[in-house]
Amino acid sequence: MTASLDEYREIAPKGTVDFLCRLSELVKGRSFVNVNTVRYGGGVAEILRRLVPMMKSLGVEARWEIIAGVQEFFDVTKRFANALQGQEQTITEEMYQTYLQINQRNAQTLNLEADLVMVHDPQPAALVEHRKKGTWIWRCHLDIAQPQRRVWSFLRRYVVKYDAAIFSLPHFTQRLPIPQFLIHPSIDPLSHKNRELARSEVHAIMDRLQIPRDKPILLQVSRFERFKDPVGVIQAYRLVKKHHNCRLVLAGSGGTHDPEGEAVLAEVREAAGRDPDIHVLQLPPEADLEINALQRAATIVIQKSLKEGFGLTVSEAMWKGKPVIGGTAGGIAAQIIEDVTGYTVHSPEGAAFRIRHLLNNPGLIGRMGGAAREHVRRNFLITRHLGDYLTLLKIFSGP
Ligand code: UDP
Repeated sequence: MTASLDEYREIAPKGTVDFLCRLSELVKGRSFVNVNTVRYGGGVAEILRRLVPMMKSLGVEARWEIIAGVQEFFDVTKRFANALQGQEQTITEEMYQTYLQINQRNAQTLNLEADLVMVHDPQPAALVEHRKKGTWIWRCHLDIAQPQRRVWSFLRRYVVKYDAAIFSLPHFTQRLPIPQFLIHPSIDPLSHKNRELARSEVHAIMDRLQIPRDKPILLQVSRFERFKDPVGVIQAYRLVKKHHNCRLVLAGSGGTHDPEGEAVLAEVREAAGRDPDIHVLQLPPEADLEINALQRAATIVIQKSLKEGFGLTVSEAMWKGKPVIGGTAGGIAAQIIEDVTGYTVHSPEGAAFRIRHLLNNPGLIGRMGGAAREHVRRNFLITRHLGDYLTLLKIFSGP
C-alpha cells in the first residue's frame, strides 16, 4: 500500500507536499539504491519499506537491495553492532574474514549501479570496496558515540571510502575525512503501523491477542534484545503494581537473523513468571496492525532502552497520542520533550516513579499525548525524511 503524496496534505505541516513536489521535479529519473540486511524487523526496514515506494511514485528510480548472508555472518555483524554500541566483544581475524567474504560475494550479485548508493549500517559497509560508479553514502543508524575502538578502526577503513556519512544524532558522529550529515529517521502516518484505527478495530485486535482492557496497560514494543532492557521494564512494572492495578504488555520478535533473540525471550519469560497481568507477545514480522492497535490501546508506552540508535517505536507511540517514558539512550531523548511529551529515565525505579506519576494524573496523560503527536507531526514524519533524501539526491547526483 503506497499512499499518494496528496494524502499527506492534511497530515504533514502546511506547505510540505508542495515543497516535495517541486523538489522531486529536480531529481526525476535519477537512480537511488538502498542496501541493508533485512526486509522486515527493526527500524531500518520499517523506513525503507515506506520511503522507497514513495520515491518511486515521485519519479525517482528508487530500488532496495538486501545482502544475503549465512548465519555465521549475521553472528559476526551482531557482534559488530554490539561492539560499536560500546559493548565488549571478541572478534577474531577469522570473523573479520567472514565479514569481508560475504560482502565481496554480495558485491558480485547485487545490482549496485545507481546515481546514489545508500548503504545502511555496518553489515554491508564493505561493499564500497567494489564500487564502480555513482555517489556512495554510508547511513549509520547505530549509536556509535563510544565504540569499541578495534571494531571501529576496522570498519572505519571502509567508511572513509564513502563520499559522505549520515548519522541520526549529532553526538554519534566520528572523526572522519568525509562530509557528515544529520538526518533523523521518521514514521509514516499512513502505513498500517500508524494509520488511524477505529475503536472497534483496536478492540477486535486486542481480543484476538487476548489482552483484556479492564485496567491501565503499560506497553513496550521492541525486538527481544538486551539493549532494549525488557527485564528492566518488568522490574519497573512490579514497583508500579504495588500501587496501581495495571497490565504490562511486552510485544516483540527476535528480529531476523538475530542470534540473541531466543535467549532474551527466555530471560523475559522467566522474569515475568506466572503473573497473569504480564503479557509477553511474540509477534510475526508483519504484525503492523497489531502493533498499531497495541500502541493505541496502551495507557502509557515505555521504551526503556539502554542503548538505542533512534528508537522509532517512540515516535510511533507519540503519534498515537501517548506519553512515552524512555531510557536516556540515543535518539529517545531527541524525541521526548521532558515533562511535555513524556519523561526520560535512568533506571527501573525512575521509570516506575514516572509511570506512577502519570497514572495518578489521568488528565496529564491526555495533555502529554496531544503534545507528543504535535511534536511528531513537526519533526518525525516521513514527508520530512523524503525531503532530506531528495535533497541529498539532488546534491550528490550531479547538476
Ligand atoms: N517492530 C515490529 N515488530 C516487533 C518489534 C518491533 O514491527 O516485534 C517495529 C517497531 O514498531 C518499529 C521498529 O520495528 O517500527 C523498531 O524500530 P526501532 O528504531 O524502535 O528499533 P530497532 O529495532 O531498529 O533497534
